[in-house]
Amino acid sequence: MRLTRLFLITLLLFVTFLFGKTITVGTSADFPPFEYIENGQFVGFDMDLMREIAKLAGFELKFVDMSFDSLIPALRAGQVDVVAAAMTITDERKQVVDFSTPYWTADQSIIVKADSDLTITVLHQKGRIGVQTGTTGDLWCTDNLVGKGLLLEKNLKRYDTFVLALSDLLNGNIDAIVLDSPVANRFAAIKPVKVVGIIVTGEQYGIAVKKGNKELLDKINSAIKVLNETGKMAELIDKYF
Ligand code: GLN
Repeated sequence: MRLTRLFLITLLLFVTFLFGKTITVGTSADFPPFEYIENGQFVGFDMDLMREIAKLAGFELKFVDMSFDSLIPALRAGQVDVVAAAMTITDERKQVVDFSTPYWTADQSIIVKADSDLTITVLHQKGRIGVQTGTTGDLWCTDNLVGKGLLLEKNLKRYDTFVLALSDLLNGNIDAIVLDSPVANRFAAIKPVKVVGIIVTGEQYGIAVKKGNKELLDKINSAIKVLNETGKMAELIDKYF
């Protein structure tokens, strides 16, 4: 009996060693250069960062795409093990999930159509502003514009994805989008849009795990440390920025 059990445990360890553990990574792949889909593949800084972490920590990865505001619920429900989605570490989120050490710092930017005369004052006029639901851009506009009576609630349009927000901006259905500065800069380089203002938030991105999953978080943090020390992180930054 004892021997059989020992044999089974050894076999299990061997199989785990042989095939590695598969970690499911939730992302919202509409956010270049952090996460997007190219030729059917998940690409971007966060995706490569996860691949490097997985190599060091010895696990396999499976990526799952969903709307940004579904990521934390999916993590809490155990449908994904990790969220890698340029997710800002906020106090509210820290109450429900755990974050890795920060790996990026960003601000919010305001983008309008490239041929538009609108300026940053679009936020304080009768502008129709687009945000992605549940993002820090959404929270900033909700608190600082709608909350202070500077923007009518009905003029703040929330979208599941930036693909939808951008098409509404280009069709003239909204006047501006508020989103993370590195992504605004990337959109300005690849789409007919331009940045007309920056809201300095100094927010930091972290990789999220289920609250209390210390084992996985420790592995991620040790890997991030190694990537910083070996220059691999700098290489990834060079690749995408
Ligand atoms: N950094 C922002 C946030 O955490 C936006 C992230 C995103 O849209 N992927 O809310």
